[in-house]
Amino acid sequence: MITPIKQKDTDAILKNVKDTSEFKIGGCVCVCNGETCECNCNCNCTYKNPEKPEDKRALKFVLSVLVFIALLQGNRAMAQSPNEQLVMSFEIGYSQVSVLSEEQRSGRIDALTGATPQMIKSYLPDSVYPSAVNAFLVRTPDKNILIDAGYGRKLFDHIQSLDLATEDIHIILLTHMHGDHIGGLLRNEAIAFPKAELYLSQPEYDYWMSDQAMQASPDRRNGFLQARKVIAAYKDKLHLFTPEAEPAAEPPTNTLLPGIRGIAAYGHTPGHTAYLFESEGSRLLIWGDVNHAMRIQMPCPDVTYARDSNPAQSVETRKRILAYVAAKNIPIAGMHIAFPGIGDVISTGNGAYAFEPYCLCLGF
Ligand SMILES: [Zn+2]
Ligand SMILES: [Zn+2]
Repeated sequence: MITPIKQKDTDAILKNVKDTSEFKIGGCVCVCNGETCECNCNCNCTYKNPEKPEDKRALKFVLSVLVFIALLQGNRAMAQSPNEQLVMSFEIGYSQVSVLSEEQRSGRIDALTGATPQMIKSYLPDSVYPSAVNAFLVRTPDKNILIDAGYGRKLFDHIQSLDLATEDIHIILLTHMHGDHIGGLLRNEAIAFPKAELYLSQPEYDYWMSDQAMQASPDRRNGFLQARKVIAAYKDKLHLFTPEAEPAAEPPTNTLLPGIRGIAAYGHTPGHTAYLFESEGSRLLIWGDVNHAMRIQMPCPDVTYARDSNPAQSVETRKRILAYVAAKNIPIAGMHIAFPGIGDVISTGNGAYAFEPYCLCLGF
């Protein structure tokens, strides 16, 4: 059984497209005329009848945006405008995927290494880049799967907005154990998803449980303690696995779960893992922190993020995965890609890439 996109959601999108002449989505400003939306972020698109979605790339893609006017009861220090409190859902085969945006923000140039003055002049003239903290929810016909858990600030409101309770999450897949990915796994120090099985790569587990690694990184001591609290809380539900070394085996010989492959994407952390979802021939790679600053790391994949635990390995991983998804036409979603956090990777030659985010389109 497919979990349908609710009619009220579709109505909300239509209303938004038809009634809104100009709106902000993530870091983009879009102007719509009822059929076409033009945005200043390289995601121009044409509105099409959602009942007859055009399958552009063998991707059954029906986007919906829930304008999430949550009644946040006076506790959001990081207040955003209502039109940035967005949950976006779309379909991949029989699965429905929702982007759960915890935060939209600007990244700072001093968080990057390896960028030449010429690169900065070309790609980051304002010394900042659009960034975000996202988690993702995949609803297959029989399982609700959370991929990372953000900080846990808006996560629970977002899940509730999809008519789900925390008890309805069956599986959690972790890309890695940085605080902006595992914060939502505990709530008031207790397990936040009591019925969920937690999947984590063996090398990631080994790293965060290593006393030697913790002693070698005194500035990250709190991160180690947080990761260990999460592991302790979920210890009876923990599944450790070794990710596939290459995403090349087709058809896959050994999937992690039905329709889900864990792909080694080491470098940002020692066991950083991307997840490849496939349903009815349509695919999506949720790549975690393979990329932090799309604006410069797509054209210049050698630029690294300061928190990468192994910068050289993270560059190699980024190049391998960019080449793979561009060649295979696999859309990607990322935890630090500005809303909507999903789009296509296009090779522009000479090892450079461009990112084309999906935006407020139906039948894209
Ligand atoms: Zn990270
Ligand atoms: Zn991160």
